[in-house]
Amino acid sequence: MDIEDLYELIPELICNKGCYECCKNFGVPSRTKIEDERLKKFLEEKGMKVGEAHGHTCPYLDETLAEGGCSIHPVRPLICRLYGTSPSYLCKMGIMPVRLLEEDEEEEIFHLYQKNFF
Ligand code: SF4
Ligand code: SF4
Repeated sequence: MDIEDLYELIPELICNKGCYECCKNFGVPSRTKIEDERLKKFLEEKGMKVGEAHGHTCPYLDETLAEGGCSIHPVRPLICRLYGTSPSYLCKMGIMPVRLLEEDEEEEIFHLYQKNFF
């Protein structure tokens, strides 16, 4: 299983335009070694620097981007993808994906994540 296969299990969420609430509250998102390697490769290819935590806002949030705020969107870690899409990480603004994950699906995703990508 590739990590992209795991990400595919998570429904797409379209956030409220201009809402970066999640990205402003958790600092640098947690990620596994595999996700960190993907991120570093992406940053290198884009000529970007590794982000450092300053307060609660994620260093990869860029509100000036036309298409949205995440400057590392293709390689954002699992936790960013789960916000708003799973029962444990419901959107504070009430935004829902087309289909919210069931609790057992969320558990299975974490199980596969820990088994294959730590
Ligand atoms: S999941 Fe909800 S609260 Fe978080 S950034 Fe998206 S719209 Fe905002
Ligand atoms: S990596 Fe992207 S999606 Fe995740 S918290 Fe940072 S800006 Fe938000």
